[in-house]
Amino acid sequence: MDNIYKSVTIEKTKKIALIAHDGKKPELLSWVEKNKEILQGHFLCGTGTTGRLIQEKTGLPVEIYQSGPLGGDQQIGARIVDGKIHMMIFLWDPLEAQPHDPDIKALLRIATVYDIPVANNLATADFILHSKFMDQEYVHWIEDYEKQAQNRAEAFKK
Ligand code: PGA
Repeated sequence: MDNIYKSVTIEKTKKIALIAHDGKKPELLSWVEKNKEILQGHFLCGTGTTGRLIQEKTGLPVEIYQSGPLGGDQQIGARIVDGKIHMMIFLWDPLEAQPHDPDIKALLRIATVYDIPVANNLATADFILHSKFMDQEYVHWIEDYEKQAQNRAEAFKK
């Protein structure tokens, strides 16, 4: 079956998810502090501990979900599906095993499915944050799964 795409607009003001595993939290905190001026023009959200630390350390408002191992990654994934999160800075720790590894994999997968910008390290985060698209709308094309599901259901009826 041919893939069907639909256009989706990421607004000028972005909703950015921030997540860092324990070994990476200090890195993310100082990155947010350093880029506070740009980030305060957008909406921030994050997993429980990461979100709280950012809010306390930088004073920026952060919508806080559950801690990652308790379902926070899945909450972020669900919001990406709903188009409510537009990009993600996710500093996962390559040197530490995580109990919620399947959730991490699922989140990274869904971010790819919905074609949102994702940074897994600070260099990428810098490139994203200083991209011209941070100051304007961005139109991208994602697979229209709803339409595909409809077509599949129709095909089963035959
Ligand atoms: P935390 O969750 O911000 O609550 O530490 C992050 C994670 O482990 O995914």
